[in-house]
Amino acid sequence: MEAKTKDLWVFVETNEDGTAKNVGIELLTPGHDMAVKQGGALVAVVIGSGVDAAVQAASEHGADKVIVVDGPEYATYTTDAYAIALCTLVEKYGPTSMLIGATNNGRDLGPRVSCRLKTGLTADCTSLEIGSPDPESGNVAWTRPAFGGNLMATILCPDHRPQIGTVRPGVFKKGEAGEAKAEIIKEDIHVDAADIRTQILELIKEEGGETVDLEGAEIIVSGGRGVGGPEGYAPIKELADLLGGVVGASRAAVDAGWIAHAHQVGQTGKTVGPKLYIACGISGAIQHVAGMSGADCIVAINKDPDAPIFDIADYGVVGNLFEVLPVMIDEIKKLKA
Ligand code: FAD
Repeated sequence: MEAKTKDLWVFVETNEDGTAKNVGIELLTPGHDMAVKQGGALVAVVIGSGVDAAVQAASEHGADKVIVVDGPEYATYTTDAYAIALCTLVEKYGPTSMLIGATNNGRDLGPRVSCRLKTGLTADCTSLEIGSPDPESGNVAWTRPAFGGNLMATILCPDHRPQIGTVRPGVFKKGEAGEAKAEIIKEDIHVDAADIRTQILELIKEEGGETVDLEGAEIIVSGGRGVGGPEGYAPIKELADLLGGVVGASRAAVDAGWIAHAHQVGQTGKTVGPKLYIACGISGAIQHVAGMSGADCIVAINKDPDAPIFDIADYGVVGNLFEVLPVMIDEIKKLKA
C-alpha cells in the first residue's frame, strides 16, 4: 500500500495490568529521531483492555499522538484480534514506518501484519537509520545480524509501505519521562468472537524456570567458559550481589549446562543495556557482543591479552578471574564499610 503520511508508528505492547512493556517505550527513543528525519509525527499505538497507564507512559516519553484501541477482546493477546485492529489502523492512517518490540507477541504480530498488508518486515534489528540511499526516500536502513551473527546485514524495503521492523528489548534505552503532550485518538474497533480463531483457556506459568531481569538490570556481572564450571559462578554471583546487579552468561557456559539459559546474553540470549557490564572469562565473540555492546561501561577480565573482548572494553584487566574477582570484592567491601 501507499503511505498516506510520513508518520512513524511504534506499537506499544501492554502487560495484562494495562501498563506498557518497556520495549515499546524504549522504541520511542529512536522513533523520535526517525520521525523527525522522515518529516512526520511520532505515533504510539496502544491496543489492550484498560490501558490508560500505557497511553500515559507513551505520551510522557515523546509520542506526538497516541492511537488507542481499548476493548475486552484485547484483554489477552490473540493474533487475530490484534492483527485485525492493527491492520485496520494502518489502512486508515497509512504510516510510512512501524516499529514493533521483538517480544513473543511482537514476533507473532509483526509478520502477520506485514503479510496482510503485503509489505516487508525486518526482524530483530539492532540499528535503524532513516535515509538510504538518500534522505528523501524515507527508506529505513534496517540492520540486523545475518549468517549466524557473523556479519551485519542492512535491509531496505523501498517499494512497499509501511516498512516494518522488530527490535529486541534492551537494544535502545528508555528516554526520561517528560510532560505528557500527545494528542490521544480513540479508535473503536470491535472484533467479532467468530473472527478470533484461538482461545486462551488458561495461562500456566512455568514452574521452576529461572527468571532473571537482565534487560532491566543496571549492573550485570557475566561469566563465560573461563569460569570453568558451575562452581565458578560463586565469585561472579558474589560480586553481582555486592553491586546490586544480576548474573549474566555466555552461550558457551549455558550450553555446558553450568547456568540457566535465562542468564544468556547475546544474539540468541538477551540484549542488555546496563550502566556497567563486567565480562569475566568471556572471549568477546560477535554473537555475545551483539547482546551487550550497548552497555555504558564495559569491564573485561580475561587472562588472554589478545581476547577480542578487550577491543570493546572501556577497562580491561589481563589476569585470572579467580585472582582478580576476590581482590575487587574485597576492595568494594572496604569501600562500602
Ligand atoms: P570462549 O570463546 O571459549 O572464551 C573463554 C574466554 O575465557 C577466553 O577468552 C579465555 O582466555 C578466557 N579465560 C579462560 N580461563 C580464564 C580465567 N581463569 N580467567 C580469565 N579469563 C579466562 N554466544 C553468546 O555468548 N551469546 C549468544 O547469544 C550466542 N549466540 C550464538 C548464535 C549463533 C548462531 C552462533 C553460531 C553462536 C552463538 N554464540 C553466542 C556463541 C559464540 O560464537 C561463542 O562461541 C561464545 O560466545 C563463546 O563463549 P565464551 O566467550 O564464554 O567462551
